[in-house]
Amino acid sequence: MELNKLTNHIYYLEYNPEVDRPMLGYVKGDKYSLAIDAGYSANHVHDFYKAIEAEKFDKPNFTVITHWHYDHTFGMHAINGVSIAHEKTNDFLKEQQVRARDINYIELMKKDDVHFEKEYSGQDKLSIVLSDITFADKMTLDLGGITAQIFHAVSPHSDDTTCIYVPEEKVLFLGDSTSEDFFNNGYMDKDKLCSLIQTIQSIDCRYCILSHCEPLTKEDLLSYLFTIELQNPSLLDKEN
Ligand SMILES: [Zn+2]
Repeated sequence: MELNKLTNHIYYLEYNPEVDRPMLGYVKGDKYSLAIDAGYSANHVHDFYKAIEAEKFDKPNFTVITHWHYDHTFGMHAINGVSIAHEKTNDFLKEQQVRARDINYIELMKKDDVHFEKEYSGQDKLSIVLSDITFADKMTLDLGGITAQIFHAVSPHSDDTTCIYVPEEKVLFLGDSTSEDFFNNGYMDKDKLCSLIQTIQSIDCRYCILSHCEPLTKEDLLSYLFTIELQNPSLLDKEN
């Protein structure tokens, strides 16, 4: 798979629905580069780096994690450079490390998720690591000529949701934040969705990048989210 160009300084490796691999972003500064999410596995990281090297770009100096789910983090042990995650992401990953002490854990994961079985086919070990740097609220990386504003956001998908805004390119990376919570029976917390919609509305962005679909314009994403919100009219009252 090749790297796709979104803007002058932003590229991405497309999501892959066959194995449920999320999109991986690459923000190229004059001094440093930043990856958005580590990916599903060492293989996913290697495929990403191969696409980066094919463009004659450097491997990422930093990798920021959007949330703890395994398709975004279980490749962290194989990345180049420094990883960054919200402190709650590391708490969730610590729980995963404890679970993974059970040698049957990988087999249980394969049984639970057909995509996981494909991604980890022929493998009998997991390597789960925590990030090198943690943050609580927000932090900014100056990559040289371009900045990445990394911040925690309220979201219905997971409590550790991290978004990345690149103001110079008007791009907002949202991870899976607009989706329901798959680890809580697919519950959609509409108050949290409402809060996330307000966050998105307040940001001057042209593109919104979700991990498991094509890049969307801000207008397209908001009109889609409003259709979810419309299913619960009380939310609209709150907005007005
Ligand atoms: Zn997720």
